[in-house]
Amino acid sequence: MLSLLLLALPLLARAQDGSLSGPTSSASAANYHCDATKCKLPTCACASTSAPGGIAPADTPQFIVFTADDAVQSYTINAVNSFLAQRKNPNGCPPKMTYYTSLSYTNYTLVTDWYVAGNEIADHTMTHAELPDAAEINGNLIALNALAGIPLSAIQGFRAPFLNYTTQTLQNVAAAGFLYDSSATSSIPATDPGTDAYWPYTLDYGLANDCLSVPDICSGKPVLPGLWEIPMYAIFDEKGAAGPHLMDPWLDGNTSAVLTWMKNAFTAHYNGQRQPFGIYTHPIHLATGYPGVADPTAMVAMVNEFLDWAQVQPNVWIVSNMQLMDWVRNPVPLSQLGTADYLKCSTPQVSQNICNGMPTNEAGLLSHCAFSDFPFFTCYGCPETPPTTADPNPPQATVSGQPLRSRLPANCSTPFWDPIKGQCLCTDSSCAFTDNSRPIGPNGANLTGGGTGGAHTTPTPSYVPFDNGSPLPYLVPDAGVWAALFVGLAGAVFAGAIIL
Ligand SMILES: [Zn+2]
Repeated sequence: MLSLLLLALPLLARAQDGSLSGPTSSASAANYHCDATKCKLPTCACASTSAPGGIAPADTPQFIVFTADDAVQSYTINAVNSFLAQRKNPNGCPPKMTYYTSLSYTNYTLVTDWYVAGNEIADHTMTHAELPDAAEINGNLIALNALAGIPLSAIQGFRAPFLNYTTQTLQNVAAAGFLYDSSATSSIPATDPGTDAYWPYTLDYGLANDCLSVPDICSGKPVLPGLWEIPMYAIFDEKGAAGPHLMDPWLDGNTSAVLTWMKNAFTAHYNGQRQPFGIYTHPIHLATGYPGVADPTAMVAMVNEFLDWAQVQPNVWIVSNMQLMDWVRNPVPLSQLGTADYLKCSTPQVSQNICNGMPTNEAGLLSHCAFSDFPFFTCYGCPETPPTTADPNPPQATVSGQPLRSRLPANCSTPFWDPIKGQCLCTDSSCAFTDNSRPIGPNGANLTGGGTGGAHTTPTPSYVPFDNGSPLPYLVPDAGVWAALFVGLAGAVFAGAIIL
């Protein structure tokens, strides 16, 4: 275990994802020119501070994108749920978010559950590799598909570990068929005339963010037609443009100060061009009750106070980056949001006990893959060896007396696939889901914004962890599990100590 710990530390200590020390671009460094007469939605968009499609700010939804990065474990899911589980969007649906998943220390069955619950699963490389090669990026797709049952078509986004990318990284991402990257930074306040708070744009005319911090980009480079960049929007402290903060800003100051930074940046977007606002988390820093992790209670309360405050303002939606992309590519004014399928919510109607990403159905059906470095559970049969970049989809291990499990085919959606029988319970799209969204009412009726549902004065209900407080609901506490947990936590704590 010691050797594993020593291996993990250099990776996690090298840099904190998303730390900023000042502006990462300027208008002159961008030297950006885009021909808007040729670059048209839905496949091309120029970098612009104005909403796509010529939609006026007053008719534009204010999106809050909520993202989490790195391994998926019960304590990270609980941390995300402590912000989102009790909330509703204006259409009555639970907010969705994007999880940029890396596979080291990830429990695959929780990825399945999180996806089936409606969230976006995106790529953060297999091993959290700095300046990842194609094998790191593509192997993540393959392993998530094979062992978490995420359709390849659903994995559309990429974020570089440590936000550290090059032209080659973006070329790899484009070559793998991703729709978007979200690794670049918007680091100049939206109220500044030279702001780089662009709405998502395509790289048909190169990048217009990070021109001062990433070599050999901007001035028209790199040209990657159709690949979108969703900038990560910084918030700013009392120093303004000289004091940007990006990921986990609650680690950068006392909670009341950070709350003010967040509110000020949100208001600048909301009262300006309604560029998306981002909450970019490493959930380990907000996980409760784990040895060596600082008590996050005050930080969690502060972020919830911010979200309560933001959600009582009209037309505020908490979304995944993929939901944002759906709107950006085909923007509609607020009055038409009620017909946007991508903002609706639905429940798969599956009551059979099959291994399908719905925890109530899965009792006793998960495979325990007891690898010594990071054990995990899966519905899809354990591989003979852990996935690696050289072999992201190893052969399935045989279990005596049991047939091999069938991986998700291209023509069945995850909650309806029975990997044990190898059959799809629903092949007719009309029988698949029950729509739970409610009409959001005529625009202006104040139904398109408003807290957690009902009266705005309703206190935010607190989240009850789905695991009833046990640290790892799917993992029996054998020695290997706790070794992996310890290594993961130790690395995270060490990284935290470095940046603090
Ligand atoms: Zn990361």
